[in-house]
Amino acid sequence: MAIMVVTSVIRWPHQKRNKNNQIANDQKSSLEKSLLFAVSLGMMLLPLLYIFSPILVFADYSLPIWAQAMGILLSIPSLWLFYRSHKDLGQNWSVSLEVREGHTLVTAGIYKYVRHPMYTAIWLWVFAQPFLLTNFIAGLSGIITFGLLYFFRVNSEEQMMLKQFGEQYKNYMQQTNRLIPKI
Ligand code: SAH
Repeated sequence: MAIMVVTSVIRWPHQKRNKNNQIANDQKSSLEKSLLFAVSLGMMLLPLLYIFSPILVFADYSLPIWAQAMGILLSIPSLWLFYRSHKDLGQNWSVSLEVREGHTLVTAGIYKYVRHPMYTAIWLWVFAQPFLLTNFIAGLSGIITFGLLYFFRVNSEEQMMLKQFGEQYKNYMQQTNRLIPKI
């Protein structure tokens, strides 16, 4: 619940500010829209259903307390990365695949280290989920739905960025990994 509240508070001002930015190139397909819906189901609706109703208890499992603490440990870098990536992307952020009017390529801040820090943050969140929600459905639904969205989206997003920023994005790709910094 705390993760959901904090991430919504982080995202809200960006969503509000960017709502009026004109979109120059919309790459949102109906598959992407369906996967975004699946992600809200897997990361929000099913966890909320689990927290507020007994309907999913038949799929419960138990974990030692140290494993549940792992969930909290994973959530801390997740929230920090979520905050940093929104701050660094600024006006260029959007929930789906689109290029905005006056879109700039961000390669500084957290984007200096990885190309998709927001996705790193979300991966950490969904890996924390089965430690925090000890239920096969509500715990694993985040990994499954976000995993599908990530593997469907990441190539299309990079193709879109290559089309928009050409050589600049190509160089940026050579300097960075997708999710984990180069050593
Ligand atoms: N994949 C990134 C951003 C997610 S938000 C991350 O995980 O941090 C998705 C939008 O961000 C895309 O529609 C794209 O327009 C924009 N975007 C992705 N990488 C960017 C970058 N390096 N600079 C500017 N905009 C970027």
